[in-house]
Amino acid sequence: MSTPDCLFCRIVAGEIPATVVRETPTTLAFRDIGPKAPVHVLVIPKEHYADVATLAQDDPGLAGEVLAAAAAVAEDEGLLGDGFRLMFNTGAYGGQEVFHVHAHLLGGAPLGPMLARNLA
Ligand code: AMP
Ligand code: ZN
Repeated sequence: MSTPDCLFCRIVAGEIPATVVRETPTTLAFRDIGPKAPVHVLVIPKEHYADVATLAQDDPGLAGEVLAAAAAVAEDEGLLGDGFRLMFNTGAYGGQEVFHVHAHLLGGAPLGPMLARNLA
């Protein structure tokens, strides 16, 4: 179901432009507007789920399609040889800002350690 005031639902609906790199009947992949690496693509299910936990619980098959789409984009972008990072920011502590589940596909340069350990 589409959620009208959700930014990524609006991208799926074509109401907001995006640089789409891959589309399947159930998923969409488009370039992040503020790239954090030479390749930074967001991969989403077209259907609205708030986060990866909800998606995995309610439709694990679709979660798999999102992963398969991300792997296909990684191949298209030439990332399979040197590697890449795939991550789902989730909730407040995870730093999630857009509450339509999205995988960040990052690559094209060494990405450094996964996290800077800087906990209070
Ligand atoms: P997150 O913090 O995991 O929710 O990530 C949200 C991501 O969406 C950020 O990396 C933003 O740069 C990206 N973003 C926000 N608006 C757009 C947009 N209109 N098109 C593409 N990416 C966007
Ligand atoms: Zn949405």
